[in-house]
Amino acid sequence: MKLLTMMAEMLHDFAGLIYPNLCITCDNPMMKQEKLLCTNCLIELPRTYYHLVNGNPVEQIFWGRVSVEKATAYFIFQKGSRYQKLIHQLKYKGAREVGIEMGRMYGNELKQTSYFDAVDLIIPVPLHPVKEQKRGYNQSLLIAEGLAQSLGKPVEFKSLYRKEFTETQTRKGRYDRWENVNSLFAVKNETALSGKHLLLVDDIVTTGATLEACTAVLLEVPGVKVSIATLGYANQ
Ligand SMILES: [Zn+2]
Repeated sequence: MKLLTMMAEMLHDFAGLIYPNLCITCDNPMMKQEKLLCTNCLIELPRTYYHLVNGNPVEQIFWGRVSVEKATAYFIFQKGSRYQKLIHQLKYKGAREVGIEMGRMYGNELKQTSYFDAVDLIIPVPLHPVKEQKRGYNQSLLIAEGLAQSLGKPVEFKSLYRKEFTETQTRKGRYDRWENVNSLFAVKNETALSGKHLLLVDDIVTTGATLEACTAVLLEVPGVKVSIATLGYANQ
């Protein structure tokens, strides 16, 4: 048994020489027990801790737009920072484990408080079907799955969907444009959502337009409450 363990360890170290386990943000080799981010990058991740702040900047994005119970983001997303790579890998490099692992880590942090205790279901923001087919997955769903694992809440990804229809927005006025974004999403199977507190999940929140549109559609279902969690918060 001991010999087997030793051999497995040697094999792991040998594989590490060929396929070194590199930190996704700083590219330095990692220890066996480190996952995705090296300890240093994990410590230096610019966390927001907004779940500890009432009326935090992410919640403020939605003030006067749609009714959101609670909203927060894992870390500050800054263009050019090494942590931009996290989102880049997740979106464009097919690194699915980034979404799941980051969601899981964030869920573990949120679980330390009662912030999302009242949530019943986790809902990922749907990707445009063509984009999802091209990418092979929806990054928001991966984050939702990671969060679900830590928070112990189920994911529901079929009820909120994005319509395939997209009309060119260039000729439209401001109100029409909003109408257009707003009509991108729809709910099917209302009974799965009615009376539930939903946690809407996306990779990054910037202007909040997409999250606002999803929230508006979800709030049309009787008795629904919506909270929001994203990985990144891009302060404009
Ligand atoms: Zn690192």
